Amino acid sequence: MVGAALIAAVGCTHGASARNTSDLVGGALPRTRAERTSYTETSTYADVIAFIDSLKRDHVPFVRQELGKTTEGRVLPLLILSRPRVSTPAEARALHRPIVYVQANIHAGEVEGKEALLALVRDLAWGPKNNVLDSIVLIAIPIYNADGNEVFKPQSVNRTEQNGPESVGQRPNAKMLDLNRDYMKAEAPETRASLAAFEKWNPDVFVDLHTTDGSFHGYALTYAPSLNPAAREAGAYTMDSLLPELRRRMQARDGFAVFDYGNFDAGYEERDITDSVKQGWYSYDHRPRFGTNYFGLRQRISILSEAYSHDPLERRVKSTYAFVHELLSLVAERGARIRDIESRADSQFARGDYTTPIPIRSQLTTAPEKVPVVFEVMAHTGDSSLTQPGVPRGYRRTGTMRTQTMPVYLRFDPVLTRTIPHAWLISAGDTAAIALVRAHGIQVERPSAGMTSARISRFVIDSLRTEPREFQGHHEMHLTGSWHDTTSQLPGGMLMVRGDQLQAVAALYLLDPESDDGLVTWNVFDSELAAGKTFPVWRVVAALNASP
Ligand SMILES: [Zn+2]
Repeated sequence: MVGAALIAAVGCTHGASARNTSDLVGGALPRTRAERTSYTETSTYADVIAFIDSLKRDHVPFVRQELGKTTEGRVLPLLILSRPRVSTPAEARALHRPIVYVQANIHAGEVEGKEALLALVRDLAWGPKNNVLDSIVLIAIPIYNADGNEVFKPQSVNRTEQNGPESVGQRPNAKMLDLNRDYMKAEAPETRASLAAFEKWNPDVFVDLHTTDGSFHGYALTYAPSLNPAAREAGAYTMDSLLPELRRRMQARDGFAVFDYGNFDAGYEERDITDSVKQGWYSYDHRPRFGTNYFGLRQRISILSEAYSHDPLERRVKSTYAFVHELLSLVAERGARIRDIESRADSQFARGDYTTPIPIRSQLTTAPEKVPVVFEVMAHTGDSSLTQPGVPRGYRRTGTMRTQTMPVYLRFDPVLTRTIPHAWLISAGDTAAIALVRAHGIQVERPSAGMTSARISRFVIDSLRTEPREFQGHHEMHLTGSWHDTTSQLPGGMLMVRGDQLQAVAALYLLDPESDDGLVTWNVFDSELAAGKTFPVWRVVAALNASP
């Protein structure tokens, strides 16, 4: 629990520089590469490791571990910060505090998350006064896409819509996988390590730090909760309570205007903005291939942070720093409420909920809210000159900000729901599928000896459709078909995924043949699929071990 005095202390230290902490800790204050270069350069992997090493002191409350290794074998640092110091999930849980997992650099050209998180870790760990480390456990992953970070190229190549720094890493990892499209198929070693850390630490809150991709809006940072409706209460609470309060605090205490993540659907010239019907502010995607959407399937709070790509690096670092710092304080204050939401969800799914409809396909809402949105008016230069890094050729910024009330599309509506079955049955020969399901922290086991037959439901495939366009090395698969119930003897060699387990929602999303981001989508079952055939994963629709 967090006492009022502690909250006050968190507030007091807020925004304070740690420059007065060096006496306490001993030695000069370590500085990030961005700080040392007046925000003209960003940290290499070696810089990050050296910076972390420089923070170590006997009484500094952080522990360095390994998240895992990258494709090219780099060790990914995982930092655990709390007072008192903890180094295991059991020790962290024994403190009865929220565990907040903050990840930076998943898109390695988007560099301010890395710089802000390193600075925040230093300031909290070396801070002389009580701070939020007395109220939460922070797990920091400062350089998640370490391989991508090292592929330095001009920003005009690696980050075309970003205002510096001049040299940055690339978006994908060393296998050219976009790690923020990999959370369901989990093909990258980085993703496997991330999923294992989620399972090990069971964080209460996940934060993923990014930079926007282009729209000229009026906000230092934009944010989103898990947009997947299957995130249920945790997702709704994040969107409707946590994020609005964060927005208020960022403006009042830090001087940063922030807003829900989105992009305009039209341009920013005068001729575009006069047609208010055309205008809209659109969020991105609900599918759990994106990390923050995925984490919502765990029924936990999940937040995407997107610093404004047209701000210079210093301002992006500072807005990201303030956002994470404010979030840590807010989570500390709301710990009891957050635990309440989690324990309701956990008991629901651990006990087995076979009746609540869970969304497995969704689409952007067709009923937007009308909300004022701030944008910058852009002007033609009359030629193809480049006016500023990240600004399209032939345009220049005017500095004129306008506010217009427009349709704002932030929510996704379910278009297909399914209940969680008592169990799924899958052939033990489907080894790739089983390994992937297990990588998500989902238990796969042998059916009990007494279970020789069951009331089951099987999906008969009507049609298959593959996306013509390759995406992340795949042609995504879509199935149509129908479910048929029967009582069946269980063939030998079937394994079982029980419905009464914590990750039942993720299991449903992965295993259902009609899910919009499951194993079918990512071609895991392609060799077993044909029109007229039965889908290889069956649903057990009556209580296990009951005589049918
Ligand atoms: Zn990004």
